[in-house]
Amino acid sequence: MQDGIIPRRMAKDTPLLDVSEARQRLLAHFTPLESIEIPLASAVGRVLARDVSTSTPLPPFNNSSMDGFAVRAVDLDGVSETSPVRLEVIEDIPAGKKPARTIGLHQAARIMTGAMLPGGADAVVPVEHTDFTLRQAGVPAPKTVLVERAVQVGDNIRLAGSDVLVGTTVQKAGQLIRPQDAGLLSMIGAWQVPVWRKPRVAIFSSGDELVSVEQELKPGQIHDSNTYTLIGQVEACGAEAVNFGIVADTPQAVQDVLEKAQEMNVDLVISSAGVSVGALDFVRLVIEQEGELEFWRVNMRPGKPFMFGNYRGAPFIGLPGNPVSAFVAFEVFVRPVLLTMVGRSDLQRTSITTRLLHAVGSDGRESYLRAIVSRENGEYTAQLAGNQSSGNLFALVQANALLIIPSGVKSVPSGGQAQAWLLDGSA
Ligand code: AMP
Ligand code: MG
Repeated sequence: MQDGIIPRRMAKDTPLLDVSEARQRLLAHFTPLESIEIPLASAVGRVLARDVSTSTPLPPFNNSSMDGFAVRAVDLDGVSETSPVRLEVIEDIPAGKKPARTIGLHQAARIMTGAMLPGGADAVVPVEHTDFTLRQAGVPAPKTVLVERAVQVGDNIRLAGSDVLVGTTVQKAGQLIRPQDAGLLSMIGAWQVPVWRKPRVAIFSSGDELVSVEQELKPGQIHDSNTYTLIGQVEACGAEAVNFGIVADTPQAVQDVLEKAQEMNVDLVISSAGVSVGALDFVRLVIEQEGELEFWRVNMRPGKPFMFGNYRGAPFIGLPGNPVSAFVAFEVFVRPVLLTMVGRSDLQRTSITTRLLHAVGSDGRESYLRAIVSRENGEYTAQLAGNQSSGNLFALVQANALLIIPSGVKSVPSGGQAQAWLLDGSA
C-alpha cells in the first residue's frame, strides 16, 4: 500500500453493534489451541486440557498422623494416668520405611508422622500420652513405653483412600492450575500435565505522538502506555505477548507490522489507536484494503471504535487509542477471546450487584465506568473513581471495579443498583 491520500468508505455511518452481539461474533472465531504435555513444575497458571483422575488412593497407605506409638487399641482398654500400661516397643518406624514386623499383644512400635502403619496396629498413641519424654531429634526408640491414656480404634491414623479414592476425578478440564492443584497433581504422580498451548499475541501501538518510556518527551509527544498495559493484560490471561512497539501513522508502517506478525504465525494481533475517524487513523483502512474487516464500532462507552478482522488470515483486533478505552475494550472483548484460546471455561469476570453511593449518568451507550467498590454491612457499594475521561488512567488505577450501566439507561439514582465487574486483585 502506498502512503498518501486514499479514498475511504463512509464507515462512520455503519450502525453500532451491541456489546453482546459483538462479543458473540468475535468469540465464534476462536477455540482452544492444541493441547500439549508440559512438566508439572511449569504448570501453574496454565489450563488443564483434560480431566485428570487418579489411579492412586490418597493417602496411598495407612499412616500415622502423629509422632507416637502404633498400638492395638484393645491393649489400652481402661488405661489412664493412674493405671497406665507398659508395652514392648518392637520396632522404630520413621516416615518412608516399610514396617518389618506385625504388632502383637502388648506390643507397640514407635512411629513418626506420615510413617506407614505396621500390621496388627489399629491406633496411634501420641508421644505426649506416654512416659517417653526424650523427644528431641536423633533419640532412639525406647525398649518399652508406659502408655497413660486409652485410644479408640482408628485414632490418629489416616486410612488409605480416606481423602481420595482410586478413580476419582481430581481436576477438571478448563480449570486454571493453581499452586495447590499442582501439589495435588504431584501427589497422584502426574509429572506431565495436559494443558492448552499458550497463544502468541502480537501487540503494537500506533501513533506519531508516541515515544517509548525510555525516551525523553519533546513537545507534543507522550509516552506509549498502552503497550505496557496490554502486555500485562495479555499475560494475565495466560497468553504470551510479542511486543512490536510503536508504529508510525502511515499505511505502510501499519502494513509492515501486520505483515511481520502474520509471517511469525502469531495467534492474534492486537493494536491500539488508529481505528477512529481521524485523518491519520490508518489501521482500519489497511485492514479494510489489505485484509478483511469483520466489524467496527460497538455501542459502548468507552471503547466505541473497537474493530475486528483479519490480516491475511491472522486474526486482528484494533483497540481504541485512549488508554482507558483500550483497557476496557480489552476487558470486554479480548480477555474472553484469550481465555477461550487458553481453554478456560470461566470467561467472565466475577459480577456483583452494587448499591450506588451517588447518582450516575450515562449517554445511553453500554457504559463501563471506573469505580471503587467496597463491602459494607454485607452489601457492596459503588462510587465512581475520579473523572471518567477515557484518557484518565489515574482514575482507572484507583478503581477496583468496572461499573456497568446497561445500554439505554441514561441515569441511575443514588441508592440504585448496578452490576460491577471486580478487577484483578480486588476484594
Ligand atoms: P487515536 O485512536 O489514534 O485517535 O488515539 C486516541 C487517543 O489515545 C489520543 O489522545 C492518543 O494520543 C492516545 N493514545 C493512542 N495510543 C496511545 C498509547 N499507546 N499510549 C497512550 N496514549 C495513546
Ligand atoms: Mg492516533
